[in-house]
Amino acid sequence: MHYIGRYAPSPTGPLHFGSLIAAVASYCDAKANAGKWLLRIEDLDKPREIAGAASTILRQLETFGFEWDGEIIYQSQRSQYYADAFEQLQKQQLIYPCTCTRKEIADSTTHSGIEGLVYPSTCLQRAIKPNTAPAFRIKTNAVPISFNDTIQGNTSQTLSMDSGDFVLKRADGLFTYQLAVVVDDAAQGVTHIVRGADLLASTPRQIYLQQLLQLTHPIYTHVPVATNAAGEKLSKQTKAPAVDTQSIGQALFHALDFLGQNPPTEIQNSQPDEIWNWAITNWQLHQIPRQKYVFYNKQ
Ligand code: GLU
Ligand code: ZN
Repeated sequence: MHYIGRYAPSPTGPLHFGSLIAAVASYCDAKANAGKWLLRIEDLDKPREIAGAASTILRQLETFGFEWDGEIIYQSQRSQYYADAFEQLQKQQLIYPCTCTRKEIADSTTHSGIEGLVYPSTCLQRAIKPNTAPAFRIKTNAVPISFNDTIQGNTSQTLSMDSGDFVLKRADGLFTYQLAVVVDDAAQGVTHIVRGADLLASTPRQIYLQQLLQLTHPIYTHVPVATNAAGEKLSKQTKAPAVDTQSIGQALFHALDFLGQNPPTEIQNSQPDEIWNWAITNWQLHQIPRQKYVFYNKQ
């Protein structure tokens, strides 16, 4: 089988238990299918980036024994490709400028979608404010978008109701994650996307963009996201500690355990290459729990 997988961390901080899980899951699934595993640094959002985080993540991945294929791609160097895709969508008359502030949007609708208030397409029907840098949104419609996630099963959204017209280019000129991820997955020939379930709700928007740009749809697998005791996703904001590169065996054991792989306890004392060998040989995708968020107390 032709399999190209990838891992696409954002350099907002060092790797923590939560980001390790997505790395381990995407790596094992790719390697268990004799696939390639590509690495992409999603450093589009320069204002949110932490200086040095990208090289820290790469060093951590290397210490853990991950072996990626090919060149590492940096999104910050790929604006031209995003601009080309943006232009294709503009030619289809699907893009329009929006100068609404957050407050104006909040005051203009009560309709909530999957990620808060749904933008009511205000600027589609009116002239935008002069002397204001606009963001650019893509028109959505009421045609349901469905896909069958390997773990989460069938997922369907109606974008006009569930997400609304979403931003592809921000007022500061930066292209957004939704556009960049679609362009890059296609450019890298990615066939299988294994990532955290926090991104499940983004997938229909990505499939919509793939349809409009006439790109093939990858197979999606959304694995559970680790939370802290308060049920919050582990992240820099929730102060998740960096993975301990001094106890690699333990960290990999816990990641595999979290992913339902039942690793033998003694594997914690093995060298990384032995652990990978075990993990890849014994990888069982269907054993991954189906919940989207899971508290794991040994992180
Ligand atoms: N860069 C995203 C993150 O770190 C992942 C994007 C993806 O896997 O599609 O959350
Ligand atoms: Zn607007």
